[in-house]
Amino acid sequence: MDNKPKKTKYYTFMIVPHDAQGRPVNLKLPVSWLYAAAGLALFSVILVGSSFVYSTLLSRKLVNYSDTLSRSQQQEVVINSFSDKTVKVGRAIEELVQKDNELRKLLGLKGWQSKVKLSTDRISAEVKAGKVSTVFEEAHDKLAERKQSLEELKQWVAEVRSRFASTPSTWPFYGRLVSYFGYRSYPWRGVHTGIDIQSYRGAPVRSTAAGVVSFIGWRNGYGKTVEVNHGYGVATLYAHNSGYAVKVGQRVRKGQVICYVGTTGWSTGPHVHYEVRRYDRPINPIAFLDMNILSASRFWR
Ligand SMILES: [Zn+2]
Repeated sequence: MDNKPKKTKYYTFMIVPHDAQGRPVNLKLPVSWLYAAAGLALFSVILVGSSFVYSTLLSRKLVNYSDTLSRSQQQEVVINSFSDKTVKVGRAIEELVQKDNELRKLLGLKGWQSKVKLSTDRISAEVKAGKVSTVFEEAHDKLAERKQSLEELKQWVAEVRSRFASTPSTWPFYGRLVSYFGYRSYPWRGVHTGIDIQSYRGAPVRSTAAGVVSFIGWRNGYGKTVEVNHGYGVATLYAHNSGYAVKVGQRVRKGQVICYVGTTGWSTGPHVHYEVRRYDRPINPIAFLDMNILSASRFWR
């Protein structure tokens, strides 16, 4: 075995000048120095690399931070505008409630007694206190309440419409009014229980309201007669006809042809004798010839 003491190894670096005058420089270095230099180079590479990575990460974090900051500012703006809008919604609800009450008053209905208190002042106060969800809860209740009120109005309108459909409100046909309701001396002395409207023989006679045909046939003096029951104690009668267009028990619409003008019974020429009866008592039909929903509603009271 070779048991000589370890000799230090050397490397010589020679730097050779390119011109002839220059002398080459020899650099004799121990091998350990070389290792140290290589280690130092590696360490500095690692240092530069890691500091680069770290700075990149840090700047990215900074970007995130500024993002978060601006987002929270944006959120604050959103919350502020949200509060404004909540107040606006509250104001709109208040207006709706007011209009609803006005409408009810106009229609002669009782005002709606609200159980939910929600004023614009209260909304502002609650929003400032951060109770936006409470405000929305109350707004929802208030709207639900108004929905009920509207439902009631809708029912009322439906009832009025059906009531109006059943109220005599038109002419049986347009013709010359030749005899009025009440006492008369011509052609027969006595109380005239309806009005006479002149036309030609065979002219269509229309029901002046929706109802059910309650009588068809000959009546002494009236000749061929049609009676329509409109409900609510109201009926109409059409006399002196030449023929019929409906049957007893048939449901008729307002304006539906029910018979034809003639001169049957005590009559001096083609005309319709038109009666309006309330609880079987003849009343003056004049007011019922041209009626709208408003004048009709006066009649119901
Ligand atoms: Zn008559």
